[in-house]
Amino acid sequence: MIKAVRGMKDLLPPETARWHYLETVARAVFVSYGFQEIRLPLLERTELFSRSIGASTDIVEKEMYTFLDRRGESMTLRPEATASVVRAFIENRLDQGAEVKKYFTMGPMFRYERPQKGRYRQFHQINCEAIGGEAPELDAELILLLMEIFRRLKVTGLELVVNSLGCPQCRPAYLMELTALFARGLRDLCPDCQRRSAANPLRVFDCKSKTCQELLAQVPTISDKLCDNCQRHEARVLELLDRFQVPYRRNPRLVRGLDYYTRTAFEVVTTQLGAQDAVAGGGRYNGLIKDLGGPDLPAIGFAIGQERLATLLSQQDADLLQQPLLFVAVLGEAARDRAFELVQALRHQGYVADLDFTNRSLKAQMTMANRRGAAWVLILGDQELADGRAPLKDMRRGEQHLVSLDTLPQILADLQPELKGV
Ligand code: AMP
Repeated sequence: MIKAVRGMKDLLPPETARWHYLETVARAVFVSYGFQEIRLPLLERTELFSRSIGASTDIVEKEMYTFLDRRGESMTLRPEATASVVRAFIENRLDQGAEVKKYFTMGPMFRYERPQKGRYRQFHQINCEAIGGEAPELDAELILLLMEIFRRLKVTGLELVVNSLGCPQCRPAYLMELTALFARGLRDLCPDCQRRSAANPLRVFDCKSKTCQELLAQVPTISDKLCDNCQRHEARVLELLDRFQVPYRRNPRLVRGLDYYTRTAFEVVTTQLGAQDAVAGGGRYNGLIKDLGGPDLPAIGFAIGQERLATLLSQQDADLLQQPLLFVAVLGEAARDRAFELVQALRHQGYVADLDFTNRSLKAQMTMANRRGAAWVLILGDQELADGRAPLKDMRRGEQHLVSLDTLPQILADLQPELKGV
């Protein structure tokens, strides 16, 4: 038997219904905030990610799916979406016009991490990026949008964690100070952090090792070192979150695992997922577009992990999006022929209808209808054909009525008026 690649999961029903539901809700929220969908390739030149995410980040150091293509060019399956969005933005000259460009995209990402519950090597994200706006109102808007998606999906028990990572005015001095402090206590850092603390001292904040955490307790955070502009920016973002009653916790040690963030950084965490507690994360990346050869435009974005979000959703809510199924149980050849015609006519009008072709007993067909979660079963045999009337069983109420076959579409329209004309 050929098995799926480690860390890559098949997505099967009924879970697919939850995914459909969360994507539908997210799309509706994005549209109401003025965001438009873009769809991008999964494969990019390796350089795009090493230049944007940062050479000494975990992702670039050890998690990328990188290979040489047939011409010997280094290619990488995208580990995140922001770099690709920025690449597409620059390449397609999407910077025309002064307005903030707002995009969202959904799809698979690839990271060679150690698979465990909530962590996969192919996983999916819903991404949101707003390019061309520097105002703190835009930061607040994105966070409000993110929390609105959770609200509409009725996901509770989430915590929004926010921080500011400074800017090119204030961060370099802080990083130098941090590097010097780490150099002094170098032997107290874990081997990984000893290696990376000089090139990328912020990484140490993400380290789980006890010795690193102890050392970190003694060093200043970036929050203590923000310049006036960054302080004002952060204060305004937080003021807006307060105004719209979005609860948050300020965590001056939140750094996020990618190098390109400036100023606002945030994460949404939950206690319901065990060790992999982050459902979404994002932040500002004011320098990235210029660094990748584009215009000097500020931007901000976030990503939601779809696998993690899906586990927080109730199946019942997701099933509400599904149109109810009418299953036609048939007895005999002639009835099957008529049922096929009937089912086709109903489908044509936008209803969900089905029948079985395997010649099973009525009992077996009722079991099938139940397994499929059918809302109604129409029972059609020779007698019913002759009468032009057949019993329609309402599976949820357990009631049964004789209905005329000619008026079945009308009867369904009365039962489920909102379904007509889909
Ligand atoms: P990041 O780009 O690392 O900030 O990730 C954004 C979100 O994607 C996280 O908050 C998670 O919900 C999700 N995520 C990241 N890595 C994985 C993974 N390996 N498996 C599943 N979900 C992930």
